[in-house]
Amino acid sequence: MKRSVFYGVNDIRIENAARPSVKKNEILVEVKACGVCGTDVHIYHGERGSAEVTPPIVLGHEFSGIVVEIGEEVNNFKVGDKVTVDPNIYCGRCAYCRNGKKQLCESLHAIGVNQDGGFQEYCVVPQTQAFLLEEFVSFEEGAMAEPVACCLHGIERSEIKEGDTVCVIGGGAIGLIMVQLAKLKGASKVILSEPVEMRRRIGLQVGADAVVDPASGNLKEQIKKVIGEDHVDVVIECVGRLAATRQAFEIAGKGAGILLFSVPETGAEFPLPLFDIYQKELKISGSFINPDTHLRAVKLINSRKLQIAPIITHKYCLEEVNGAIQMQMSNDSIKVLIVPKN
Ligand SMILES: [Zn+2]
Ligand SMILES: [Zn+2]
Repeated sequence: MKRSVFYGVNDIRIENAARPSVKKNEILVEVKACGVCGTDVHIYHGERGSAEVTPPIVLGHEFSGIVVEIGEEVNNFKVGDKVTVDPNIYCGRCAYCRNGKKQLCESLHAIGVNQDGGFQEYCVVPQTQAFLLEEFVSFEEGAMAEPVACCLHGIERSEIKEGDTVCVIGGGAIGLIMVQLAKLKGASKVILSEPVEMRRRIGLQVGADAVVDPASGNLKEQIKKVIGEDHVDVVIECVGRLAATRQAFEIAGKGAGILLFSVPETGAEFPLPLFDIYQKELKISGSFINPDTHLRAVKLINSRKLQIAPIITHKYCLEEVNGAIQMQMSNDSIKVLIVPKN
């Protein structure tokens, strides 16, 4: 089988390897689609992922496929099942795991981060990490269960209440999922702030009530034009640049929540507007991966409650994984997928 192996900064090579074999509690998944995540881009440039990366390793943690082999103690899946995978594996022993905060696990393992992932033709997956997809769901949509699951955790952290006004800053794949989840949560108005025209258009298509272009003038004034107030109740920042963080504080109303969801550069710092936090009673939250949200993400996808297809803009075959990572960084794309047998 073919696999792409990450050896270090900007160095992914296509190799031939024997098809891996499964242990008693594992399934072998023929990968049909695997998303290129911002985390893969970070790792490709030498930064850490959700866990520490030790090359050589096969990246790719957002994938779906078909079960082609099962271990002798696998009872939840059979050969031929269509599945999607939760890549994050927790130790179950540390204080965080035993105190309802498994995402903060002291020894988090992640498929596609520190054990071989989905940028290959076949991937070994513990049966506990797989979830069944409905027949009518495409592999491309199924591959998006992981980012949806991460967004679900973020939406919970944002504590949106029915009727709240929400601004999502950044219309990449995550921002466009957040727009939809905020609507499902009962937000009265969801505004997407995004400089790229194509992404604003898709934002409207997936349900944003209004879109604004932060590059075309004062964001507060633009928000006032569309909702009659120059601030919102909840801001969800999905960009990862300081200009976006600054905008989040600018448009946060009194009592607002600010969810800083993006993955910033390691060591990135931002001067906090302390008086605003005090006087406006701002609540700032972070959000990390997808604790206990993957099943609900799969249910949302299986029940067609989310529009996933418009978010997927590019597909590449396995041999083109370097090009796919470049394209994921470009403003011309939203979500790039690797389809091993494209
Ligand atoms: Zn991801
Ligand atoms: Zn743990």
